[in-house]
Amino acid sequence: MSEAQIVDGKAAALALRKQIAEKIAAFPLKPNLAVILVGNDEASLIYDRNKQKAAQAVGMDCHIYHLAEDASEREVIELVSQLNQDGRVNGILVQLPLPAHINPLNVLMNIAPEKDVDGFNPYNIGLLQANSPLAFVPATPKGILYLLKQVYADLSGKRAIIIGRSNIVGKPMAALLLNKNCTVTIAHSKTKEIEQIVREADIVIAACGKPKIVKAEWIKDGAFVVDVGINRVDGKICGDVDFDNVRLKASYITPVPGGVGPMTVAMLLVNTFEAFARQNHLHLD
Ligand code: NAP
Repeated sequence: MSEAQIVDGKAAALALRKQIAEKIAAFPLKPNLAVILVGNDEASLIYDRNKQKAAQAVGMDCHIYHLAEDASEREVIELVSQLNQDGRVNGILVQLPLPAHINPLNVLMNIAPEKDVDGFNPYNIGLLQANSPLAFVPATPKGILYLLKQVYADLSGKRAIIIGRSNIVGKPMAALLLNKNCTVTIAHSKTKEIEQIVREADIVIAACGKPKIVKAEWIKDGAFVVDVGINRVDGKICGDVDFDNVRLKASYITPVPGGVGPMTVAMLLVNTFEAFARQNHLHLD
């Protein structure tokens, strides 16, 4: 039995980060990313510090605006508006989830589309749906597409299933793959007989947050399996894919950790650099 090739997201992300650092070093100005964090969710705090470290490591400025848990929706929107108007700030992201008393859509739709480096403003969601090159594409699906394209020169005609329909992963992933002429199915918690659909898929993207739910018996020979899930089981991190068994059936598989996660951070930096380049009218190759 041959084992799947493990797709190394960590190495791909490092290469991208190096490229961005070189481009930044060639300009007199530094890209500037503003991160808004509301409340004290521990995981969010860690994610934001990691994003800040990664941004600074490639030569960007990055400031975390940390608001109290009880900050009002109006206060968050006012901060977004200030950052929209601040000519020194190139990219703005609002860490999700927000506390329950704040409607995330009300906040996200106030981010200036040209600074919306997470791509969660409905304007950018619309551009992605319209297959516009101007769309800021959410970092996780953008990173997944990058890994798929390292293996497949052409995705046209491939059958893909995405397990999960969140606004940050499943839905934008579906739009990206449809734009690349894949035939796309989105499954969710109400989908019946997911395994039957997975059996027909050339590309399986598991993004549902259920540890090891995707089994080897579901996988078509030769499939590319992308594991987005981050689950903690018995103190260890695992994905949504039963990695040890699925790797014996698939042709390509992303590991957890070391697969999609590092690509997400790298693509946030790519989007921030892109925002900076557009705002400064830089012409890049
Ligand atoms: P989410 O907002 O919680 O959405 C989960 C999705 O999975 C929902 O659409 C849900 O269906 C679906 N689902 C839940 N149980 C299911 C089941 N048994 N069968 C089929 N579908 C099911 O999650 P998310 O934010 O997209 O994140 C998904 C996972 O990816 C999490 O583990 C998260 O930590 C991880 N993640 C990783 C990265 C990274 O960079 N590596 C980035 C983002 C997220 P309904 O819509 O019907 O509820």
